Amino acid sequence: MELFANAKINLTLDILRKREDGYHDLQMVMQSVTLADELTVTPAKGAQGEAVSDLHFLPTGGKNLAQMAAAAFRQAAGTGGEVDVSIRKHIPVCAGLAGGSADAAAVLVAMNELSGAGLSPEELARIGERVGSDVPFCVAGGTALAEGRGERLTPLPPLPPCHIVICKPPFSISTPQLFSRVNVRRIVRRPDTAGMTAALEAGDLAGVARRMYNVFEDVLEPRRLAAIREIEGVLIDCGALGASMSGSGPSVFGVFHSERQAQEAKARLEESWRDVFLCGPR
Ligand code: ATP
Repeated sequence: MELFANAKINLTLDILRKREDGYHDLQMVMQSVTLADELTVTPAKGAQGEAVSDLHFLPTGGKNLAQMAAAAFRQAAGTGGEVDVSIRKHIPVCAGLAGGSADAAAVLVAMNELSGAGLSPEELARIGERVGSDVPFCVAGGTALAEGRGERLTPLPPLPPCHIVICKPPFSISTPQLFSRVNVRRIVRRPDTAGMTAALEAGDLAGVARRMYNVFEDVLEPRRLAAIREIEGVLIDCGALGASMSGSGPSVFGVFHSERQAQEAKARLEESWRDVFLCGPR
């Protein structure tokens, strides 16, 4: 079975509180995009399923999120055999775009189909939660408000048609380190999540773009922040209606009304950065 695994961007990311269990309660407006990995899921040739990708540094066995999802499915559904998963990665890794979670979600959907288990999307999302907190959103896709660790989802009206340019600078940002730098009481600027929801309901693309904001930008190390701001600056210069960092970074995206301007932004960014993608909402 062949299928796509779509990346996500955060239209907003807010951190509400640190919980007793050490995790943070988040509030995020998430959007899936057409940038996607290509997966082939087939019954395993050997006794144990494998995950093979075109990136040599990704784990191939049970540590690949695709195989973790397959194991979680077997355990929860009590059906579905071992599967081999072949992945053509297009979503950059450790980029704040939920690439691994997207692969995991796609495997859940594939196994549900292949095994004939007939689980509902909600049931698949609950299984996905055991693999990672972004997996439930990746199962559902579209536009949603994600709360808790990201697993509590409320569907939102779709992002109006637009063009999205994503640029991933060549460094990674440690998510635990980023969380450790956040002092929830000291966050001065937060996204207007209610305003974002209202803009989506009104189909107001400019209103959405104006409200895009990610609180992690406040706690980035200065040299990382400089790179993020530089990319945001190019996107805005080229006509983006708004630009922001996705997840725990370092990917930055801009939302455009005009495809020509989005193409220009991609070309401008490619003069300085290697990983630049033009895609749309999904
Ligand atoms: P998020 O936005 O959910 O924080 P991310 O985009 O920052 O995710 P991923 O690309 O999902 O990060 O990868 C995170 C880690 O998961 C990497 O260390 C990678 O080695 C591991 N990993 C395991 N399986 C996969 C997979 N199928 N695709 C990508 N990464 C995987």
